[in-house]
Amino acid sequence: MTLTNRDIVELTAWRRKLHQHPEISNEEQKTASEVVEFIGETKPDRILTKLGGYGVAAVYESGRPGPTVMFRSELDALPIHEISGVLHASLAPGKSHMCGHDGHTAMLGALGRQFGRQRPARGRVVLMFQPAEETGNGAADVVADPRFGEIAPDFAFSLHNLPGVPFGEVRIRTGVVNCASRGMRIVLEGKTAHSSMPETGVSPMLAISELMPSLPKLGSGTFADDEFGMVTITHAAMGEAVFGIAPGYGEVWATLRTRRDERMANLCAAAESLVMKIASRNRLSARFDYHEIFVASVNASDAVEHLQRALDEEGILHAEDGLPMRASEDFGVFGHNASSAMFFLGAGEQHPALHNPDYDFPDDLIPIGSKVFMRTARNILG
Ligand SMILES: [Zn+2]
Ligand SMILES: [Zn+2]
Repeated sequence: MTLTNRDIVELTAWRRKLHQHPEISNEEQKTASEVVEFIGETKPDRILTKLGGYGVAAVYESGRPGPTVMFRSELDALPIHEISGVLHASLAPGKSHMCGHDGHTAMLGALGRQFGRQRPARGRVVLMFQPAEETGNGAADVVADPRFGEIAPDFAFSLHNLPGVPFGEVRIRTGVVNCASRGMRIVLEGKTAHSSMPETGVSPMLAISELMPSLPKLGSGTFADDEFGMVTITHAAMGEAVFGIAPGYGEVWATLRTRRDERMANLCAAAESLVMKIASRNRLSARFDYHEIFVASVNASDAVEHLQRALDEEGILHAEDGLPMRASEDFGVFGHNASSAMFFLGAGEQHPALHNPDYDFPDDLIPIGSKVFMRTARNILG
């Protein structure tokens, strides 16, 4: 039930290879092929490819009835230029694994090796290598793929490494662990004019200057309560960079964030009606669209109990501190049809933060994360 030293050396080398060849969301073609090759050597009963994009799933059957237990990692990297200076730094300019998805993938590689040697006693294990986590569409696209019906997990588990938390310690709780969020792009249209005669045009300037402070005021509650809502202005622009034209077009981008999906629906409605009111008062037409939609990630109590039992048996410290997180995570989608839970594995208090350009996944987490998953799977399936 444990990894050999040789496994750990090889998994570490594989993690570093993935790190050198990052691909951003929805472009993970080579990473997916790399996973198929690595995981194929462990002789799973079935490998599904191109699930909801470049997703890969490996299935290890027991041949006996029982639940399906799924473990999820992510395939995608980020459009960030790496400055870590490590020997295995990214070879793709402007792209890098600054969220540690290379490490999460290596942990599933570790599970593949162990289930390749010894199948579960009942039910089956699915290793899900999911694409496009960073943009929020990957998990939803995988679940929407008709072939996901062949997987249909009863339990779904995932983890994310977390800098700022002592190395190897775990943060876990029942209920919300990651917020719902979405990007709202607001487009305002008026009419351009000569800058000497702005009164003949319709400028979005006043509407934008009104929206920027008033949208964040739609936020509510403190982060500790269920009614929490938050609006952050991330971008605004109007007109062209010239002096001769009064603008006739503008955009405001905002990120909406809540603890509950129901509260998100209210917050969107409130933001839309505010935009319409301000636009019509300024004789502008307005439209909006939404991007990077994440539902809230909510941990089920029975799935959390399975993880906590495994953590206790492995002697790993765990607590609720710092949860839920304001940041979003698309794993929540898997919880709509399965008992799901995600935990956070400390990457070290002084470790560079996720998405920082000098971040690198700590290799020593590979055996720790994979043994928690392994113990969980064996406890459920034998
Ligand atoms: Zn990330
Ligand atoms: Zn991530």
